Amino acid sequence: MNHPAVAPAVSGTTRPDRRRTVSVDVGGVPVGSDHPVVVQSMTNTDTADDDATAIQVAQLAHAGSELVRVTVNTDAAAAAVPEIVRKLRALGVGVPVIGDFHYNGHKLLVDHPEAARLLAKYRINPGNVGSKHHDANFQTIVRVAIENDKPVRIGVNWGSLDQQLLTDLMDANAATAEPRDSRAVMIEAMVESALRSAELAEETGLPHERIILSAKVSGVRDLVDVYRILAGRCDYPLHLGLTEAGLGTKGIIASTAGLSILLNEGIGDTIRVSLTPAPGGDRTEEVQVAQQVLQSLGLRSFLPQVSACPGCGRTTSTFFQEMARDIQDYLRERMPEWRAVHPGVEELRVAVMGCVVNGPGESKHADIGISLPGTFEQPVAPVFVDGKLDRTLRGEAIVPEFLALLEAYVDRRYPGSGAATPAEVSATS
Ligand code: SF4
Repeated sequence: MNHPAVAPAVSGTTRPDRRRTVSVDVGGVPVGSDHPVVVQSMTNTDTADDDATAIQVAQLAHAGSELVRVTVNTDAAAAAVPEIVRKLRALGVGVPVIGDFHYNGHKLLVDHPEAARLLAKYRINPGNVGSKHHDANFQTIVRVAIENDKPVRIGVNWGSLDQQLLTDLMDANAATAEPRDSRAVMIEAMVESALRSAELAEETGLPHERIILSAKVSGVRDLVDVYRILAGRCDYPLHLGLTEAGLGTKGIIASTAGLSILLNEGIGDTIRVSLTPAPGGDRTEEVQVAQQVLQSLGLRSFLPQVSACPGCGRTTSTFFQEMARDIQDYLRERMPEWRAVHPGVEELRVAVMGCVVNGPGESKHADIGISLPGTFEQPVAPVFVDGKLDRTLRGEAIVPEFLALLEAYVDRRYPGSGAATPAEVSATS
C-alpha cells in the first residue's frame, strides 16, 4: 500500500542565544537558527544499487534522520537516484535525499536532470571540483541548483582543501613580518574557501538563502576554532560534523566533544556524526548519537530518557543491567508509534535504579521509575509514578509488568488524538 510521503516534521524549539542565520529550505526541512537543529546522516551503500540504498535511507529516516545524503559519484549512481526516491516515496518515507558530489558533479548533474530535480540539496566540495576549470565547474553545479531551485552545501574538508588557495595563503603568510603557524593558515584557508565559494555562488545567481556551509576537520580543537571563525563571518546556516571521527567509542566521544562545545555556544544548524561502523554494524548508530548529543544538551527531545544508575557492588547480578537495557530497547522500538499517537512522549523520564540507596529518590524525580532490589535486599521492586509510590512488583515478571505500567502511563499522560495511521507513523519516524 502506498502512503503519502511528506518530509519529516522537525519538532522542538530553538534557543534564543543561537547564532542568527538565514533559513534554508532543504526539501521541506528548514535549516537555520529559527528552527531546531536538524539531524542528518549519510548512507554507505553503493548508490547504484537502488534497492540497498533505498532500504538504508529508509532505515536512517526511521531512526530519526531528518535529511539523508547519498554519494553520487558515477553515472550509474546518478541514474539510480530517481528510482531510489520513487521507492522511498512508495514506502511512505518522505525524507529529503541529498546528493554528495566530488570531481564530476558538474557533469553528473547536467547529464542526469531527473536526479538533479529529485535531490533536495547538492553538496559541493570546492576542493574537489577540479583545479583546471575550478570556477567553471563550480558554477555549472550552482547553475543547475538555480534552475532546479535547490540549495547547496558548500562543504570544505581539510583532507581536500583547495590547494591553490592554501598555497596562496601560505605564501602570503610567509611574506609577513611575523608569520603565523601552519595550523592558523590552514584554518584561515578553510574559512576563506567556504566564504569565497559562497560569494561565487551568489555572484552566479544562487540566492543567499540557498546556501549552507561546512568546514570539517578531524581534530576537535581545530573544529571548534574553524567554526567559531566561520560563524562570526557570515549568516549562512552551518552544518557541523567532525570528519573521519573514527570507530566506536573514539568516534562517538570525539564527535560529542566537538559538537557539544559549538552547539552550546549556539553555533550549528544541522549536525552529522561521521562514525565508522564496525563490519556489519548498524549505520543508524550515527543518528542515535546525533540525537543523544542534542538531547543531552537540552536542545531537542527525541526519546524518553532512562536514568539508570551505574550499578556497583550492591548489584552483583546481571538482572539490573538487563532490565535497564530491555527498557531502553523497548522505548526505542515503541517511539515511531508513540511519537505519532502520543505527542510529547519524547519528554518522558524513566528511572531504573539498582538498589535502595538512591533508587527510591531518583525514581521519585522521574515520571515513572523502578527501584530494583540490590543483592541481599528483599526481592521487591517499588514503582514510583509522578513522584509517589504506586505499587511494589515481585517475582519473575517484574520487567513485563513494569513495561505494561509504562504503556498505561504513556496512554494516560500523553493522550494525543487517537491511533496513528501507518503514514503518520512513517512520517514521524
Ligand atoms: S543506586 Fe545502589 S546499585 Fe546503583 S550505584 Fe547507587 S548504590 Fe549502587
